[in-house]
Amino acid sequence: TQEQARQSSTAPAVTKDGMHIEIAANIGSLADARVAVENGADGVGLLRTEFLFLDRTAAPDENEQYEVYAAIARVMGERPVVVRTLDVGGDKPLAYISLEREDNPFLGQRAIRLCLNQPDLFATQLRAILRASAGHRLKVMFPMIADIGELRRARAVLESVLAGLHTQSVPVADAVEVGIMVEVPSAALLAHVFAPEVDFFSIGSNDLVQYTLAAERGNAAVAHLQDGLHPAVLMQIQRVVQSAQHAGKWVSVCGELAADHDAVPVLIGLGVQKLSMAPGAIPHIKALIRRLTLQEARQWASQALAMESAETVRRFIRSRLEALV
Ligand code: PEP
Ligand code: MG
Repeated sequence: TQEQARQSSTAPAVTKDGMHIEIAANIGSLADARVAVENGADGVGLLRTEFLFLDRTAAPDENEQYEVYAAIARVMGERPVVVRTLDVGGDKPLAYISLEREDNPFLGQRAIRLCLNQPDLFATQLRAILRASAGHRLKVMFPMIADIGELRRARAVLESVLAGLHTQSVPVADAVEVGIMVEVPSAALLAHVFAPEVDFFSIGSNDLVQYTLAAERGNAAVAHLQDGLHPAVLMQIQRVVQSAQHAGKWVSVCGELAADHDAVPVLIGLGVQKLSMAPGAIPHIKALIRRLTLQEARQWASQALAMESAETVRRFIRSRLEALV
């Protein structure tokens, strides 16, 4: 019945041998937050804030942003919400920021690169997020980090915004966790360098695949290369998980791979304990996790890591999933 389906999607996702996997939602609006809750999301693993900035002639001011972040936080209640700072530029231009035309927008001034060059825009967004954190479990996440210097500069802006809010006695949550998207191979390979300076990592498989296989996302002509089950991607995910575990930090996967039926056992087997996905995928992925054991998933993941291609990995995992009782 519908009620049973609702209960099953809101219940936690636990493997047969007792490992709880947190299933969060990727959202891009207040309406999405409501859908996320209805679908049983344990939180928001990725709030794409771009929707507030695109298709308009001026940037949203601090209050407009604050109202939206706070409204989303209220909808999510006790659940954690990871707010990603602006990820535009390149292929998603803003009318109110003039940028040089770029031959390769995906390799250009995107995301954190753009924000670090637009200090007012960046600081305003951080102020709005920090204000909305009061009384809620908001976390801040920087996209497209490729180098430790970018993380340090972004954190310095965050610290100065926070200091300003304290001086003005504006309420802010006590400890706001700060993390980065791992979606550029340099960040995955140097995860051990980043780990001590972040609270968490969120692996953005869409971009990580694009940059690892040198295959532009959304380009149908190279779609055959865009598979996150590629061992070259899995090795990076393994590296990120191990570096995070070593430093006592948590890891989530928030790209499309997190909702990929064949990839979920591998991710869990690699030690990922949080997945974030489109709200509609949550019930199905929770049901899948309840059919798995961590022990088997670990074996499958270690076999997958030694394979030669995404195709081989996918065929292998499918055969294992079919054999599940
Ligand atoms: C990703 O790159 O995997 C990701 C989740 O970010 P976006 O799809 O918004 O680039
Ligand atoms: Mg991305």
